[in-house]
Amino acid sequence: MNKLVFATNNQHKTEEIRLALIGQYEVLNLKDIGCTEDIAETADSFAGNATLKSTHVVENYGLDCFADDSGLEVAALNNEPGIYSARYAGGRDDLENLNLVLKKLEGEVNRKARFKTIISLIRNGENHLFEGVINGVIRTEPSGEKGFGYDPIFQPDGYNITFAEMDMKEKNLISHRAIAVQKMIAFLKSH
Ligand code: IMP
Repeated sequence: MNKLVFATNNQHKTEEIRLALIGQYEVLNLKDIGCTEDIAETADSFAGNATLKSTHVVENYGLDCFADDSGLEVAALNNEPGIYSARYAGGRDDLENLNLVLKKLEGEVNRKARFKTIISLIRNGENHLFEGVINGVIRTEPSGEKGFGYDPIFQPDGYNITFAEMDMKEKNLISHRAIAVQKMIAFLKSH
């Protein structure tokens, strides 16, 4: 069976894709192929960073690969934190990051924001990009305990709860990541 690497260390993400592509691809992650080096994410866009990760695997391990990169874009902050989402407040602290967003938005009436994921899939030497977006608003205070990152301050359009108050199963059906993944899976099944 064709091998396909998912450039992630997240076992949970790997299992989800493995199930979706069962019988079609043998899905491996970074650990499975023995890739322990840090892959630099030095590009200035989600697509650039996702492509750096997928390219690293293709060039060093000779296997087809896909990688994802995600973040929060806040309209009134010129789409910050964007590619800096994981370290917006300097460290990798989720609470500090979301508090910085709240502070910068103090008194701001435009609360529009979106989560975005870009997947770069390199197959047979060609790079295919898939985008997933979910629109919403930034609350004035955090609410909810589930999820991670900016989930406690992000309320998706059409809901009156935050991502952190939502059942994980439900979030995983509507999220930016889920949308991008579904697009890639549809592509893999039809090409
Ligand atoms: P990654 O590219 O998936 O690792 O995401 C980078 C950063 O974006 C994370 O560290 C979070 O701060 C933020 N982020 C991405 N997706 C989500 C999400 O679904 N909920 C909350 N924060 C997210």
